[in-house]
Amino acid sequence: TLPADHPLLRGLNPEQLAAVTLPPVPALVLAGAGSGKTRVLTTRIAWLLATGQASPGGILAVTFTNKAAKEMLARLSAMLPLNVRGMWIGTFHGLCHRLLRAHHQSAGLPATFQILDTQDQLGAIKRVLKERRIDEDRVKPKELQWFIAGAKEDGLRPHDLSARDEDTRLKIELYRDYEAQCQREGVVDFGELMLRAYELLRDHEPLRVHYQRRFRHLLIDEFQDTNRLQYAWIKQLAGDDVGGRFVPCGNAVMAVGDDDQSIYAFRGARVGNMSDFVREFGIAAPIKLEENYRSVGHILHAANHLIDHNRQRLGKQLRTAQGQGDPLRVVELPSDFEEAQWVIDEIRHLMREDGVPAHEIALLYRSNAQSRALEGALFNAGIPYRVYGGLRFFERAEVKHALAYLRLLENPHDDTSFLRVVNFPPRGIGARTIEQLQQAAREAGCSLHDAATAVGGKGGAHLVAFVAKLDVMRERSAGRPLREIIEGVLADSGLIDHYRGEREGAERIENLQELVNAAESFVTQEGFGREAVALPLDETAAATVDADAAETGETLSPLAAFLTHAALEAGEHQAQAGQAAVQLMTVHAAKGLEFDAVFITGLEEGLFPHDNSLSSPDGLEEERRLMYVAITRARRRLYLTHAQTRMLHGQTRYHIPSRFLDELPQESVQWLSPRRARAAAGGWGAAAAPGALVQPAWGRSGLGDERPAGLAGIPAAAPPSSSPPAVSASGAEIRKGMTVFHTKFGEGRVLAIEGQGADARAQVDFRRHGTKWLALAVAKLTPVA
Ligand code: ATP
Ligand code: MG
Repeated sequence: TLPADHPLLRGLNPEQLAAVTLPPVPALVLAGAGSGKTRVLTTRIAWLLATGQASPGGILAVTFTNKAAKEMLARLSAMLPLNVRGMWIGTFHGLCHRLLRAHHQSAGLPATFQILDTQDQLGAIKRVLKERRIDEDRVKPKELQWFIAGAKEDGLRPHDLSARDEDTRLKIELYRDYEAQCQREGVVDFGELMLRAYELLRDHEPLRVHYQRRFRHLLIDEFQDTNRLQYAWIKQLAGDDVGGRFVPCGNAVMAVGDDDQSIYAFRGARVGNMSDFVREFGIAAPIKLEENYRSVGHILHAANHLIDHNRQRLGKQLRTAQGQGDPLRVVELPSDFEEAQWVIDEIRHLMREDGVPAHEIALLYRSNAQSRALEGALFNAGIPYRVYGGLRFFERAEVKHALAYLRLLENPHDDTSFLRVVNFPPRGIGARTIEQLQQAAREAGCSLHDAATAVGGKGGAHLVAFVAKLDVMRERSAGRPLREIIEGVLADSGLIDHYRGEREGAERIENLQELVNAAESFVTQEGFGREAVALPLDETAAATVDADAAETGETLSPLAAFLTHAALEAGEHQAQAGQAAVQLMTVHAAKGLEFDAVFITGLEEGLFPHDNSLSSPDGLEEERRLMYVAITRARRRLYLTHAQTRMLHGQTRYHIPSRFLDELPQESVQWLSPRRARAAAGGWGAAAAPGALVQPAWGRSGLGDERPAGLAGIPAAAPPSSSPPAVSASGAEIRKGMTVFHTKFGEGRVLAIEGQGADARAQVDFRRHGTKWLALAVAKLTPVA
């Protein structure tokens, strides 16, 4: 072994050092945010390679995003004089995709199978419903999508499911139809990538044994957000099922995670995987890292204090060696508009006075809808910004159209793509013709492409012409460089001409040209044609395993590889740090990232914590973990804002401050007065004078009612000792503690009353609908005896 002062190990603390240099045994690193988990993982891979304990082909590492995988590869090649290209480092989806490409026959897939992103999947589901003539009101496509995704995440096929009610029975049948349709068309959705890859290993012993022997080291980041199926997939690579019991095969599995950052339970993530992992791999004690290297004292203290309100915790400590830094700044603004203005002023201040670069500033919010006000303000202020989430490049309509043509070149039987562009640009193929075509395809049991000649009439002639056009495009593209293929398709499909004639076509054409650029940089970055790392095959499995070239993706044509890249990228709603612009994203998208300055906006009850979560303690705890993730993204400065009123979904709504603000340690928080008051206290942008500090409005004063008009931020009046009665729209007097009845929500208990007169609102905990705030001027509440 190398000495501990090896350059790779320099600067690690003793616990990190122990984790990095651990002998090859299963291990769990359980540690809080910013404690260096990801860094430990990367350094361990480098260490294993540098000391010759593993070859690049013997390591499999799972990251949370493709971006993180790329970063890890970049860091590794900076650390080591090795060619790390071709290493199995990627997301679960990326790695499963690679496995399926290499063994598509064993997996029962055509060589040219394509990936359906979430949008395409919804389209495919709608077709299934249509085929059965089931109204979308009866079975909502989105609901069916969730049902199928949920089943797959639990590793369940239709025949594994049973139904107690009619509704579920129908959904199971539709799931079966959907599977058959995907199989026929040679497409797989994201859930299918995982499930197929899992079944591939489960059902093909020689393959499983091969990969078990090959990947002696398995490393997984963000383990707390793995779902049941992902964990089961890891287990396939690390052991066998012997009579219903899991027996590890001795591989070194290192999982790193933080139970306090589990924020995907709504998507099937299972913190229980952590305790299962400890039990099934016989881990004596998790490794703990307790030093936080990211945030200053006040920020860390706030995060620790907040998360302490959760009951379901494994329990961890975090300390920082850095100074206390500045306290968190909390500010209340009258409206979302003013909130955005305040944020802009503060950003200007940060950039000008403190020299914080734009890309080191992040604006976080709970849901995408909130970004609009912030975007508008940034735009008007001329501050460069970038929004993550929402519609990504590969999800834009014009880009998807172009991709559909490209996919049809690869696989003409991809009906989803076929339907997307059969009449786009318009070529006289109407809905009736398409229905006839679908009917013919169903009867013949073939793809739409192959059924085209079966439709008569004028529409039929157009169809045949379309298919002939596709075939010509395919022939022309053979053997050409990717760039030329795409340019050819953009011209031959008629897309460019079509958008030329459109009012907002210029931007769409730009995006199509951007697609050519994206392909170009994809080819250079992925280095097609460059040599891949040679990975020796295990002899026992050599007969069943395709050549290694397939494993490294080299047999994929550049077009196929690019289409895969586009599909996987579209499914990833994760931000990328490092652009020269202020970063806007949801808290979910900020996972794993860090910034000098962070603004968490919209800290209001109903928004963050989100309405949907309030009815269950689990939901609330997940929201609190989300808040913990948000806080711990900040290195030096953290701002928390909330607005009294907010335009959402076309309505102005009144909000009260988030309970999370109350759960912060007051000694680490500085309550700022809003803009107007701050102006009086010393000018725009000046730090609030100590006298201007105000108490949190939450639960103490209402919506400015007890405060001098127009000075909402001046120190609030002393909190009333008991809440005053208020009058409901029903005419009844409502008091705190009362049981009341509401025609829509039923019975509930009044938890709090705020404001007076027309502003009066009551917080009611409804038995069946959870906690809600109701404006008493509107809501009819009647006391229940
Ligand atoms: P998260 O839970 O948010 O994913 P993490 O535990 O993965 O966080 P890292 O992102 O690995 O933490 O590290 C946080 C920051 O601390 C990074 O900037 C990293 O470079 C730095 N860091 C980690 N360990 C050390 C160390 N021993 N010395 C100096 N800096 C460190
Ligand atoms: Mg990390």
